[in-house]
Amino acid sequence: MKCILCGHEEIKDSHTTVVREFGKMLLIIRYVPCCECEFCGEVMLNDDVAEKVSEIVSREKERLESEINVVDYTTVA
Ligand SMILES: [Zn+2]
Repeated sequence: MKCILCGHEEIKDSHTTVVREFGKMLLIIRYVPCCECEFCGEVMLNDDVAEKVSEIVSREKERLESEINVVDYTTVA
């Protein structure tokens, strides 16, 4: 696997935080598994994870309660 941004091949498993904004509400999804380029820091989600993230987003955005909403990918996925 190569970095989609710089083409570097040093990709490591990592975790990232996905943030979505709905008006003044923020949905923050923590501990999302990803691959990260060690060279430029570009973060890539595999297809399964990306799909899971959009499921979480569409489910959670219906029940945002405050300006900042934090969910943990490892417990809601
Ligand atoms: Zn890169």
